[in-house]
Amino acid sequence: MMPPLGILFPKDLNEALNALALNQENVHIIAGGTDVIPGLNQESNRFKNTRLLIDINKMPEVKGINVGTEKISIGAAETFSDILQNEVVQKKLPLLWKSAGTIGSVQIRNRATLAGNFVNNAPCADSVPVLLVYNATVEIESLSSKREIFLNDFLSAPYKTKLNKDEIVTRINIPIPSKKFTGDFYKLGRRRAVAISRITLAMLISLNDNMIDEIRIASGAVTPIGTRFFDLEKFAKGKKIEDQFLKELSKMLGEQIIQVTGLRWSSEYKLPVVQQMFYQLLKGIERGSL
Ligand SMILES: Cc1cc2nc3c(=O)[nH]c(=O)nc-3n(C[C@H](O)[C@H](O)[C@H](O)COP(=O)(O)OP(=O)(O)OC[C@H]3O[C@@H](n4cnc5c(N)ncnc54)[C@H](O)[C@@H]3O)c2cc1C
Repeated sequence: MMPPLGILFPKDLNEALNALALNQENVHIIAGGTDVIPGLNQESNRFKNTRLLIDINKMPEVKGINVGTEKISIGAAETFSDILQNEVVQKKLPLLWKSAGTIGSVQIRNRATLAGNFVNNAPCADSVPVLLVYNATVEIESLSSKREIFLNDFLSAPYKTKLNKDEIVTRINIPIPSKKFTGDFYKLGRRRAVAISRITLAMLISLNDNMIDEIRIASGAVTPIGTRFFDLEKFAKGKKIEDQFLKELSKMLGEQIIQVTGLRWSSEYKLPVVQQMFYQLLKGIERGSL
């Protein structure tokens, strides 16, 4: 049963940070609550001893999707439905837009926030591989400091991040890809809707005369946390898009995933699936259908 809880609705960031500074040991931020509330109900260890929730939804600092010339800045309390309704995100960050549409159901997307998804850092958090290939950064504030770090550095282990107890994520900044990138996000679950991901892949690629000018690859669910494959990306740079190479690259991705996760009972099934998924994404590029 859920323990008795207090809840605060700070009107701005300063008020929230002051409350957080006073109550660090037994307080949790709540945004959409789609992870926090089930976690409290199930008496999950992650929310053990929580006595106070700080609801960030009334704070202007964590709201809005601001479009600049070089980046799109998404407030931490923007929901997946907000993202889906934003035409600039749809046009400039199509992989994020696509992944937002795969989260839960309409009811979940109306509550669930982008920041809540990666701060929770479940292995199956669907926005993570996509944000990783977009080189997203996370803006974080406490009463005494303000910092901005790459999401790739922010995520440390399943359900763990580098967020300190006195800090709040305020915004997610995504550089607008400057080159002619194309790409895709693929999610495999046990069913088509309201499904926890078993495997996710995100890929961005820019070509120059049928050669790979730049490729960015990230996985989720099949790895303990969302993971970028920087070595593979370096290896692929400058290579020609031809079937033999695409097969080799897909095989190498599978091998690198095994290096990250170790052999598991599910590897026999997941490895060929992930290799085939990635191969199909690459073939889409070759056919020009992405
Ligand atoms: C039925 C159901 C289906 C789901 N389907 C999917 C799915 O398909 N794909 C998927 O990826 N997830 C899914 N989820 C999980 C969940 O909806 C997402 O992870 C969601 O994005 C969490 O966002 P939230 O705003 O609800 O987070 P909350 O529950 O409010 O918070 C999650 C965590 O982040 C912290 N937090 C939130 N915002 C901040 C901030 N600004 N600063 C610091 N800390 C913060 C909280 O303290 C908490 O630890 C599902 C959940 C349910 C219940």
